Amino acid sequence: PKVMIEAYRLLIARLEEHGPDWNYPIHLGVTEAGDGEDGRIKSAIGIGSLLNDGIGDTIRVSLTEDPVHEVPVARAIVRNQDRDSGPSSLPDDITATTKPCWDPFSYRRRLSNVLEINGLDLGGDKEFRVLTTQTKWDALAHKIEKMGDFKPEIIVEESKVMEVDPRSNAAVERANALDVPTLVTVPDGINMEVVPAFRLLASRMTSAQPILLKDTLQPDEGASRDFLTTLLTASRNIGSLICDGIGDAILIQGEKAPGQSLRISYNILQAAGARIFKTDYVACPSCGRTLFNLQTTTQKIREATGHLKGVRIAVMGCIVNGPGEMADADFGYVGGAPGKINLYVGREAVKLNIPEDEAVGRLIDLISEHGKWVEPPVRETAEI
Ligand code: SF4
Repeated sequence: PKVMIEAYRLLIARLEEHGPDWNYPIHLGVTEAGDGEDGRIKSAIGIGSLLNDGIGDTIRVSLTEDPVHEVPVARAIVRNQDRDSGPSSLPDDITATTKPCWDPFSYRRRLSNVLEINGLDLGGDKEFRVLTTQTKWDALAHKIEKMGDFKPEIIVEESKVMEVDPRSNAAVERANALDVPTLVTVPDGINMEVVPAFRLLASRMTSAQPILLKDTLQPDEGASRDFLTTLLTASRNIGSLICDGIGDAILIQGEKAPGQSLRISYNILQAAGARIFKTDYVACPSCGRTLFNLQTTTQKIREATGHLKGVRIAVMGCIVNGPGEMADADFGYVGGAPGKINLYVGREAVKLNIPEDEAVGRLIDLISEHGKWVEPPVRETAEI
């Protein structure tokens, strides 16, 4: 979503250069978002970030699922935006003196100091860390060892995180005066939306303190929301900030189920490109040109390759647009003709016209030939 967000912002900036009558309505969409929770998260990050910036007049959510499943997601993204677009007015002295710390047109992670919590490095160029509350940690304690890649890493109450109201000069000065790296965050309950609050905090932290991002500053309000609303709100808020280069750790508060809140945390980090812990899939939404059943094939490929951490696989329905839209996938599975599949390494077609019933196996062979295949681990995993 980073590239999509930057491209739309650039389009608006270029249109504005041409004068006020170049105010064409803008249509937003994240193509090749894929399916399931990951597809919904990627869509919410891309479309939600831009709506949050005030960009966009129509939207389309494109999932590799039956089209009827796209509409509720699109409606929820718009509903979330309507709910959370209240003004976040700031005192004039703050707006006049604060310089944004991020570049809207190109990604660069904000510089921050490194500190160690619970034996884990955080900040700087270290991995984004996943925090949870003591209550959720306790609820999961009996199965943490079996949670594989979805493990909680740090208990927020033990992190010594410092709450800083970014509108308060005194609070900001206190945090900037600390001479040891300290994790900082925005306090719950303040009357600001999440994205502007954290952008302001990041811009005013001249001392490069690492930042803990939150999905909501009103955690109690989330209790009455359905899962989709919570998922899309968290994805928009945290994903949008990560795409601006802001943040070093995350805490999901809106989702109350302990395991589910961790799954959302890691999936948002992966979708935003901040921490890769599983295979990444790019899949087209299918159309009249699609040459095979995209949903069942994507599922088959996912089952065979879902353990290849960091490998990016594109599943595209045709060669007309598929190769051009595979982004930077490592391998591509593309419909070449009815019943025939072309396999790609990067953007190069390396195996042509493979019978469809052999193609998943040949894809695995290709991944092996390029040294990216590992056997799936045999391990006991916990349901989350
Ligand atoms: S089948 Fe081809 S044209 Fe249709 S959505 Fe997929 S890649 Fe795009």
